[in-house]
Amino acid sequence: MPEQQNINMPLKTQATACLRKFYGYTTFRPMQWGIIDNALHGNDALVLMPTGGGKSLCFQIPALLSPGCVIVVSPLLALMKDQVDGLQSMGIPAAAVNSQQSEAENRDVMENVYKGYIKLLYISPERLLSELDTWSSRIKISLIAIDEAHCISQWGHDFRPEYTQLSTLKQRYPGVPIMALTATADQITRDDIKRQLNIPEAKMYITSFDRPNISLNVRSGVAGRQKIKEIVQFIDAHRGQSGIIYCLRRKDTETMAAKLCSLGIKAKPFHAGMTTEEKQITQQEFINDELPVICATIAFGMGIDKSNVRWVIHSNMPSNIESYYQEIGRAGRDGMPADALMFYSYGDVVTRMSFAQESGQIEVNMEKLHRMQQYAESTVCRRRILLSYFNERYDHGCGNCDVCKNPPKRIDGTTLVQMALSAIVRTGETVGLTTLIDILRGSRRADIVTAGWDHLKTYGVGRDLSFGTWNAYLLQMLQLGIFNVAYNEGNVLKTTDYGRDILYGKKTVMLSEVDWSKRTKKKPETQTALFEADELTPAEEELLQMLKDTRLALARAMKKAPYLIFSDKVLHVIAKEKPTTRAQFGTLYGIGEVKCAQFWRQFTAVVTRWQATHNA
Ligand code: ADP
Ligand code: ZN
Repeated sequence: MPEQQNINMPLKTQATACLRKFYGYTTFRPMQWGIIDNALHGNDALVLMPTGGGKSLCFQIPALLSPGCVIVVSPLLALMKDQVDGLQSMGIPAAAVNSQQSEAENRDVMENVYKGYIKLLYISPERLLSELDTWSSRIKISLIAIDEAHCISQWGHDFRPEYTQLSTLKQRYPGVPIMALTATADQITRDDIKRQLNIPEAKMYITSFDRPNISLNVRSGVAGRQKIKEIVQFIDAHRGQSGIIYCLRRKDTETMAAKLCSLGIKAKPFHAGMTTEEKQITQQEFINDELPVICATIAFGMGIDKSNVRWVIHSNMPSNIESYYQEIGRAGRDGMPADALMFYSYGDVVTRMSFAQESGQIEVNMEKLHRMQQYAESTVCRRRILLSYFNERYDHGCGNCDVCKNPPKRIDGTTLVQMALSAIVRTGETVGLTTLIDILRGSRRADIVTAGWDHLKTYGVGRDLSFGTWNAYLLQMLQLGIFNVAYNEGNVLKTTDYGRDILYGKKTVMLSEVDWSKRTKKKPETQTALFEADELTPAEEELLQMLKDTRLALARAMKKAPYLIFSDKVLHVIAKEKPTTRAQFGTLYGIGEVKCAQFWRQFTAVVTRWQATHNA
C-alpha cells in the first residue's frame, strides 16, 4: 500500500519521497509541486502543460498522499488502460471502470474502491455522472482530475458533448477539488474550461510549452515522388525507431503505407474509416514496437501514451499551429531526442485554403492558416515562432531547428519575381502554378505550345532551377503578397499592386535562397541544453541494443508494451551508468522500488554480459 499522509513530515518531503519510491525520479518539474500542493489543500486548478510535460503526476501524487480516492475523467478508453497498466507496474493501486470491461469486472473494481484499496480510479465522463451519486456516499473522493479538459469547449478542436455534463460536478460536490488538465493553450478555450466547469477561482498553472528535445524541420516546395524519396531516406536514417506520418486524407494514408511497404519499410495506415478492431490491432502493434511506422490521419495519437515515438512527419502542411504542435508533441515524450519533419508545398496551401473557405469560420481559419504558413516560411528560429504563437517569450535561437542549424542565405529575389510575374501577366493571368513553372522552365507540354506560350519572352528563362526550387520560391512570393491565388477561378495566379511595383522595377525584394546545399553551415550561437541524455559510445550503443532486446523479450512474455517496462530514456541511462548490483540499479533515473525489485536481475545481467566482452 502507498504511504498515507504522515503528519510529522512536511508535505513536500513526503511528495518527493513518493516521487523517488514509485517513479524513480528525484525532482519535480517546474510547477508540478505547486499544483500538487494546491490540490492537497483542496483548491481547484487549471493546468496547462504541453503533451509530455508531466501532467499525470500532478494528480497521481496527491492520490498517494490523500486518504481517499482520486477520480480521473478521461475521454480515451485506450489511454485509460495504458495509464492503469503503467501505474500498477509501479506499484500504485489504480483501476478503470468503463464499457470495455465486463460489468462483473467493473463491479469488482468498485468493490475494491469501496474497500479503500484503489487510489486512482479512471472513468469516462458519462459513466461518472450516471454513477457518482450511487457511490459517492461510500467513498471519499479526494480530487476529481479532468484530463483533456479542452474537450468541454466548443471552441477547442476536439469538442466532446459528453464532457459538457461535467459542469454539474461542482454544484453536486462543492467540497471536492477539481483539477482540469489540458495541452491546449489558447485563451478562449482556457476561459471556457473554467466557466463550464464552474471553477472561476481555479488557480492557473501554465508551464512553458517548449519541448526542446524535439528538433524542428521543414522541407519547402517538395512534393510527389521527391517527397516519397525524402521520406524513405528519413526513415532509413531512423531505422529501428517508431514514428508517425500524418497524411491529409484517408486514402493518402493507404497509398503512403503501401508505397513504403513496397520499399521494404513496415508501415500501416490508420484512419477513422477503419473498423474498431483493425484500429486496435494496428495501434497495439505500434505500441508493442512490432510496427515501426504508422501512416495516419489526425485521428491517430490521442489514444496512445507511447513514450518512445522518435519522429513525426507531416506529409502535408497542417491547417493550424495548435494541431501541428499537438501532433509533433507525440514524439519524444520520454525526453530523449526526437525529430519533427514537415513537408510543405504550394499544393498544400491551395488545399488548406479551400478547406478554410468551405469551413463555417472563414476568417478565423484563414488567419490560422496564415500563421502556419509563416512558420513554414520562417527565416528565424522556428521554435521562436511556435512559442510566440502560444504567447511565450523566447528571444534566442534554439539551436535545434533547421533554421538555427543552417540559417538560410538571403538573396536579391527581384529578378526571380520579375520572371514569374512577367509570365503571369503575359498569359493574361490565366495560369495556375504548375503551368507557370512549366512555362518558366520551357516545357514542351502540348497545351503550352498550342496556346503559343512557347513564344513568350519569359518562356524557358527559369530552366536552370528545378521544379521544386521554383515551387519553393513561388511559395515565398505568395506568402509575401506578390501575387494571389484566385480560388474561385480555378486557382489561377493574379499579380498584386506590390507585385507590379517589383515587376516594373520600383521595388526590390529579398528571398531566402532555396537550394539547401548552398546554405552556409553555421554553428548555432546559442545552444540551449538540448536534452539531458549524454551521447553513447559505439560500444554503449551495443549495450543499449541488448537492453532493448531484453525489454522486448520481457514485454512479449508479460504481454505488455515495452515502454511500460522502462522508457527509452531509462535504458539509455542504464547503458551509460552500467549498474551491476541491485543497489546501483535502484538509484537510477526512472527506476522505482517495484520495478527495481522486478527487473534488476535481468538488466544487470545484461550489463555484466556486455562487460565480459568489452573488458569494461
Ligand atoms: P502528459 O500527460 O503531460 O502528456 P506525462 O504525465 O505522460 O505527460 O509525462 C511525460 C513523461 O515525463 C512521463 O514519462 C513521465 O514519467 C515523465 N515525468 C513526469 N514528471 C517527471 C519528473 N518530475 N521527472 C522526470 N520525469 C518526469
Ligand atoms: Zn531554432
